[in-house]
Amino acid sequence: MTDARVAVIGAGPAGLFAAETLARAGCAVTVIERMPSPARKLLIAGRGGLNLTHSEPLEEFLARYHPAGGAVAAAIRAFPPDALRAWCEELGQPTFVGSSGRVFPTAFKASPLLRAWLARLAASGVALRTRTRWIGFAPHGGLRLAGPEGEAILAADATLLALGGGSWPRLGSDGSWVPLLREAGIPVAPLRPANAGFRVEWSEPFASRFAGAPLKRIALSAGGQRVRGEAVITAEGIEGGAVYALSRALREAILATGAARLTVDLRPDLEADLLARRLASARPGQSRATTLRKAASLSPVAAGLLREAAGRDLPAAPDALARLVKAAPLTLTGLQPLTRAISSAGGVALGAIDARFMLTGRPGTFLAGEMLDWEAPTGGYLLQASFATGRAAAEGVLAWLARR
Ligand SMILES: Cc1cc2nc3c(=O)[nH]c(=O)nc-3n(C[C@H](O)[C@H](O)[C@H](O)COP(=O)(O)OP(=O)(O)OC[C@H]3O[C@@H](n4cnc5c(N)ncnc54)[C@H](O)[C@@H]3O)c2cc1C
Repeated sequence: MTDARVAVIGAGPAGLFAAETLARAGCAVTVIERMPSPARKLLIAGRGGLNLTHSEPLEEFLARYHPAGGAVAAAIRAFPPDALRAWCEELGQPTFVGSSGRVFPTAFKASPLLRAWLARLAASGVALRTRTRWIGFAPHGGLRLAGPEGEAILAADATLLALGGGSWPRLGSDGSWVPLLREAGIPVAPLRPANAGFRVEWSEPFASRFAGAPLKRIALSAGGQRVRGEAVITAEGIEGGAVYALSRALREAILATGAARLTVDLRPDLEADLLARRLASARPGQSRATTLRKAASLSPVAAGLLREAAGRDLPAAPDALARLVKAAPLTLTGLQPLTRAISSAGGVALGAIDARFMLTGRPGTFLAGEMLDWEAPTGGYLLQASFATGRAAAEGVLAWLARR
């Protein structure tokens, strides 16, 4: 196996982790990256502190992924959150658990980790060719590349594609691989926005006054799921962590019927009965806005959202008003575009790969990362699965090369 030539296409977390695993096992690894520098999405993720993974128990952690189980879960079991944290530490970047259970590097950004990682990859002999795009499979094996010197064919004993999804295309992963794989007969589900906002037809006064305003300590429900967290009003709709956690159910409803119902509990810590009693005890003649602020402790944006949800005047009866505060219905009418989503759903069907992440219809070609058809909410789940599947696919390459 030593000296086997492996081409890794895509220098994101999945591709670079695969390259490291392969180089450690003695392979001659070339990483091909279309952008002038590697791992741009990882660097942007670092702007939010780089939420690498999550500290919750492994079974709860794995339950966040869709679909559950299968090759992705097996890859994470083989390289779980603690192993990722140990790997960071080994690169001189210790991690800490934030108050929400999320895990971040102490440096709270990606650049020192990436710098140390790239230096170690170079030292282990990994060759990185940037500004070079994979443009398809060559007719008799090999990979077609387009680089600064024109087109060329790269021969390799095995290939590992880690081309990312289709969100934030200016960072490199633009989904242009989808037709290339489909032409090669590989089933690919359309790339769709995941962890993205939704469109709501706000009234003009509400949108102009509250775009950018946070809704804190709320609970959202859709499709039988309920999550607590935060959301943000945007000029076109609503986004934020709690919305992202429901984005699969909401997206599927919109794709099926053109709309989805999102129910907002603006006071999740208060029972409806107690809230109704508080609302009923408002002083006679007190304005509605004052009652909502004083008796229900609603912020101006929350009170505004209540009016948007009512679609007309707010109910006069305290118990009806309390019910609305506890379950304000919003109609979502569309998806934010994929280009603005944090990640992609869809991608290469998991049924097209075996347990070692090799395309069953194309022996010797392995896949990893976000280009595969799994999805997960924000919270570190995306990076954990990208690293873990990169490693698992590289192990798959090694096992396949060893058997040949
Ligand atoms: C703003 C933002 C913040 C995020 N924050 C977090 C976070 O805090 N925590 C978290 O878990 N996740 C986060 N994510 C998601 C996470 O960054 C991605 O899920 C992860 O980077 C996917 O890794 P990947 O290696 O599969 O793909 P990518 O990181 O997308 O890497 C794929 C690489 O392949 C290259 N490529 C594509 N096509 C070709 C081609 N034809 N030829 C050559 N090269 C090609 C691309 O240029 C790219 O460098 C965030 C995403 C965004 C957009």
